[in-house]
Amino acid sequence: MTSVLQTSAVVPLHHWVAGQQVAGTSGRFGDVTDPATGEVTATVPLASAEEAASVIAAAKAAFPAWRDTSLAARTRILFRFRELLNARSGELAELITAEHGKVLADAAGEVARGLEVVEFACGIAHLLKGSATENASTRVDVQSLRQPLGVVGVISPFNFPAMVPLWFFPIAIGAGNTVVLKPSEKVPSAALWLARLLQEAGLPDGVFNVLNGDKEAVDALLTSPDVKAISFVGSTPIARYVYETGTANGKRVQALGGAKNHMVVLPDADLDLAADQAVNAGFGSAGERCMAISVVLAVGDVADPLVEKIAERARALRTGDGRRSCDMGPLVTAAARDRVTGYIEAGVAAGAELVVDGREAQFDADGAGFFVGPTLFDHVRPDMSIYTDEVFGPVLSVVRVAGYAEAIELINANPYGNGTAIFTNDGGAARRFQNEVEVGMVGINVPVPVPVAYYSFGGWKNSLFGDTHAHGVEGVHFFTRGKVVTTRWPDPSHRGVDLGFPQNS
Ligand code: NAD
Repeated sequence: MTSVLQTSAVVPLHHWVAGQQVAGTSGRFGDVTDPATGEVTATVPLASAEEAASVIAAAKAAFPAWRDTSLAARTRILFRFRELLNARSGELAELITAEHGKVLADAAGEVARGLEVVEFACGIAHLLKGSATENASTRVDVQSLRQPLGVVGVISPFNFPAMVPLWFFPIAIGAGNTVVLKPSEKVPSAALWLARLLQEAGLPDGVFNVLNGDKEAVDALLTSPDVKAISFVGSTPIARYVYETGTANGKRVQALGGAKNHMVVLPDADLDLAADQAVNAGFGSAGERCMAISVVLAVGDVADPLVEKIAERARALRTGDGRRSCDMGPLVTAAARDRVTGYIEAGVAAGAELVVDGREAQFDADGAGFFVGPTLFDHVRPDMSIYTDEVFGPVLSVVRVAGYAEAIELINANPYGNGTAIFTNDGGAARRFQNEVEVGMVGINVPVPVPVAYYSFGGWKNSLFGDTHAHGVEGVHFFTRGKVVTTRWPDPSHRGVDLGFPQNS
């Protein structure tokens, strides 16, 4: 397998169509940068509608044979893919770090979570089993089946270049669909690497394709009559657009959007644990996680000691090149860095107390990387932009609240509902929280409650458009459609045929 890690010069990337690299023809290209150095490492083609149509056509052509490939053969390919991915996970993690910037440990964690979904999809034969009823009426039997849809589109964001595609395509492929993946143009190499690995695992050409591009490629997927379903993950405005456009074009769509995740710390909580977890969840992957904690709701008297503990830990974090032994890497682009520093300035101007200023941090890196260090605000109010907006960077805001009631009111009033957490030693309080909170994924003393692969991942409100979450049984349901067969076979004796059976009534 050719390594795509050889980046001494600017690497021209391609699409991946029917098992081959295909050069872009639109004349439009995007730059891919190494966020730790600021250097351009690759160029990615930005597909025209015509290029997108030819990739969709390749996936469509591969569908009939793949649909008819036995479940045993499909499963064996998934198992081989699982083995290869596991063996080479370090290579993929390096590739993620080189384009996204997250530290290698975070990149390895991302691959491990993606691998879980492949393992789940290895059980596809069991997951696709329907049900059967004998003698629903006299000599009438009923069975239910789930069948693949055809070509499905997966559109992924920059922040999980491998894990988010892996949430979808192993299940889609296992269920007998063919896939066109449109990765983020900021981090396209992981998708191309996965495509080659699938080929090495024995996946027939055309079953998995990579279409590189931007809005033009996305629009082509959303409007093509040959694309039957869209799985999208990204920011809320684009998720809403994708949902509305895709469904208007007759497709089933699951569109996962942005987030603003709150962590409640009750007065009885273990404050060292809460501070450790707030730091991990707030600054891991430089806060570029849809499940990152961005607001700590400090209840009652915990605020002073909690802020002190979080600040102490935040100051101790080492920020730098993700390939070095750092705790936190850069932001993905210069624009992302500038947006985050803009929010820090706005927080200061609005009167929040800047306890740790990430703009003043020292960075362990060479070159002009896109760094902002861990940043902590205290006395944040709900009308400030650092509270209302998804900052998507290493900025943690502490909002002081008088009691549980104020905390839950704030969370439930928030337009996002992706993840949330409560830290407490009181089971009754935790139970009430999990029941009352209007958020899709809830952690009790767990700050980033990402469900394991056999459960489903998804938020509420503006964090998800559509009603189907990712992976788990909901994922299997999304990538298949139900069919119910009702059968009547007359007894052979009714046709006057004597097969030697005793006469039936
Ligand atoms: P984004 O919305 O900018 O891009 C996501 C995808 O949409 C990319 O493939 C991009 O090329 C495409 N796109 C961008 N602009 C478009 C347009 N105008 N029309 C059509 N397509 C367009 O998101 P991002 O910056 O790559 O990712 C970060 C966002 O994703 C954050 O908001 C984060 O919360 C969210 N996210 C959510 C989840 C979740 O599970 N809910 C998971 C990861 C990331």
